[in-house]
Amino acid sequence: MTKDVSVALTFDFDAMSLWIGTFGMTSPSAVSRGEFGAIGVRRIMKTLEEACIPATFFVPGHTAYAFPKVVQAIAEAGHEIGHHGWVHENPVTVTAEREREIMALGLQALNDVVGIKPTGYRSPAWDNSPQTLELLFENGFEYESSMMGNDFQPYWCRVGDKWSASGKWEFGKPVEMVEIPVAWHLDDFPMFEYVPGSNQAVITPRQFLEMLKDEFDWLYEREGQGIFVPTMHPQVIGRGHRMIVLEQFIDYVKSKPGVKFTTMTDYARKWRKDKTPSLPMDAVS
Ligand SMILES: [Zn+2]
Repeated sequence: MTKDVSVALTFDFDAMSLWIGTFGMTSPSAVSRGEFGAIGVRRIMKTLEEACIPATFFVPGHTAYAFPKVVQAIAEAGHEIGHHGWVHENPVTVTAEREREIMALGLQALNDVVGIKPTGYRSPAWDNSPQTLELLFENGFEYESSMMGNDFQPYWCRVGDKWSASGKWEFGKPVEMVEIPVAWHLDDFPMFEYVPGSNQAVITPRQFLEMLKDEFDWLYEREGQGIFVPTMHPQVIGRGHRMIVLEQFIDYVKSKPGVKFTTMTDYARKWRKDKTPSLPMDAVS
C-alpha cells in the first residue's frame, strides 16, 4: 500500500502567558520561565530551516505583543500561526462574554503584529467550552485542534453532543469545522516540566523520543495513512538536551519514504476536499 503519512510539528508559543493565565503565577521568577520561550523559538526555527520543513505555531495574543519580532520571524519563515487565546485562559473557566472578548483580543494581536487572520485555533489547556465552536465559525476558522476523539485521523467537529451521568449519550450534529486531534502523551509539557504543587516531570527526553517513534511507527507501518501531530512548547523543547530529541525525531521521520511535513491548515484543506460533514464511522447506528 502506498504510504500517505504527514507530520505536523506544532509549537505552542505560550511564553509568559502560560504562567500568568493558566497557573496564576505572580512572582517575577515564576513568570520568567516563559521568557525563555523566545530563545526556544529561535532554536526551533534554526532546526526547521536546516531541515527545510514547515511547522505550525499557536500564539496567544499576549505573547505576540510581548515578542513581536519573534512572531514576525515565524511568519516570515513561512510557518503557520494559529490562535491560542489572549493570556492562555482556559475557555471553560471564563464567562461566555469573556471568551468572546478573548477571541477578539487574540485576533487583534495577531493582526497588529503580523497582519494575519488565522485559520486554525487551539484552545489553551485543550479545553473547549460549549460556545467555542460558535466563535470559531463567526471568525472564519477552518480547523481546530483541541480534542482527542481520534489519533491520526481528522474528523468533523459536532454541535449538540448530549450527555449526563444518568442518561444515554447522544451524538450531536457534525459541522463544517475540521478537528485535527491532539494527545497528552505527545505533549512535551506534562512529560518534562516541573511545576511546584501540580506537575512532576514524568519521563526523560530519550523516553519521549522512543514514544514519539513508536507512536509514529504505528501510524506509518500499521495504518499507512494519516497525520501525526506532536505538541511542543518552545520553552520546554527549546532546552538543549530536548532539542537533540526534536532533531533526532525529524531525522527519523525523514528516513521514512513517503512522509511529508505539513502545516495544519494545508492538511485540513487536503483532508476536507470532497468530504461533507459526517459522524465518526462507529457513531452511525
Ligand atoms: Zn498553550
